[in-house]
Amino acid sequence: MRVAIIGAGATGCAAARFLAKSGHEVDVYEQYTLGHDKGSSHGTSRIIRRTYPDPYYVQLMAEAYPLWHELQAEAGAELYKETGFLIFGTPNHPWMRDAKKSLLENHVAFWEMGSIDATRKFGGIHLEPDEVAIFQPEAGILLADKVLESQVQIARTHGTHFLENTRANIDETGRIAGERYDAITICAGPWIGDFVNVGLKTHLQTFAYFEAPVGEVPPWVEASDELFYGFPNYGRGFKIGRHRYGPAIDPKQDRSLDKEAIQQISECARFRLGAKDDPSETYSCIYTVEENEDFRIGKLDFDVPVFFVSACSGHGFKFTIWFGKLICDMIEGTKNPQEYPKFYVEQ
Ligand SMILES: Cc1cc2nc3c(=O)[nH]c(=O)nc-3n(C[C@H](O)[C@H](O)[C@H](O)COP(=O)(O)OP(=O)(O)OC[C@H]3O[C@@H](n4cnc5c(N)ncnc54)[C@H](O)[C@@H]3O)c2cc1C
Repeated sequence: MRVAIIGAGATGCAAARFLAKSGHEVDVYEQYTLGHDKGSSHGTSRIIRRTYPDPYYVQLMAEAYPLWHELQAEAGAELYKETGFLIFGTPNHPWMRDAKKSLLENHVAFWEMGSIDATRKFGGIHLEPDEVAIFQPEAGILLADKVLESQVQIARTHGTHFLENTRANIDETGRIAGERYDAITICAGPWIGDFVNVGLKTHLQTFAYFEAPVGEVPPWVEASDELFYGFPNYGRGFKIGRHRYGPAIDPKQDRSLDKEAIQQISECARFRLGAKDDPSETYSCIYTVEENEDFRIGKLDFDVPVFFVSACSGHGFKFTIWFGKLICDMIEGTKNPQEYPKFYVEQ
């Protein structure tokens, strides 16, 4: 089949690899250059974990993990660092309570520990005396930019064309710039609203790197209202962000840094990691958010099948490979979006 993918973020690149390997002729339209920093998939790292308060995502990760291992083996490069994942907070915080329940229900291995043990075991990260920690070993870091590069390279080896600096529109006959395809998938991330209204909002997110006197710390999330999260130090310092939505923005507008977020992230770096200085680097990124933090998939009414997929809500990277496979299956007709009622939106 001749297939078009709109968007070369993590989702579009994953789909391109599966489709190309399955023998399809694939064109990927990307409005900027590959690996650009205006969407949601750029940068060095994303957390991958099975620890989720919602058991649905714990189960979905069981399907995603083998796909990541397969990609890593095929790429012949390290794309996943298995460091484990730490979540801490007071035991009655909903994230702590529900995550523990979901892990137990799904028979996922984890350890629980008190604040003193967690601080001792994990490089000196500070926990308050009334906080507890859950450590889940089958988790770690996906090397985001390398994941994208590997998928592009594999897709290209199988004949995929990446059309950079090429903004795609679908005309009423289902063509893109006059080109006719047998199927199209929209993987436009924050720009999905240009194609379909599925009630997603876009927010500016900020993260920063800090020097700090702690040792080896796995990726972590603080179960609090701010939901700060952090990464190990791979040479540039400890990366910290917060999973609370920044100001609403239009993805087309130029981004300025969210100074209030930087201030709060810096306070967290001081409190949890003992950082003394201001951040050494600051960055912004876009969250595309659904109100329940779920994903979105569906099908539009054109002469040819046009699917849309949004691995959104600030936690989608670890699922993009699963979506890539799903896109391939939907185009080949072995799956349909209605099989996923949690994500499916009727159009
Ligand atoms: C700060 C931050 C931290 C995060 N941390 C994590 C984490 O730790 N773990 C995790 O699992 N997830 C995390 N996420 C979420 C994850 O990164 C995203 O869910 C994921 O990258 C979304 O990928 P995407 O391909 O859907 O979107 P994008 O990467 O935004 O890709 C969409 C692409 O479509 C292109 N495009 C749009 N419209 C058009 C058009 N008309 N024509 C051509 N091209 C078009 C865009 O230019 C863009 O390249 C984080 C996100 C952010 C912002």
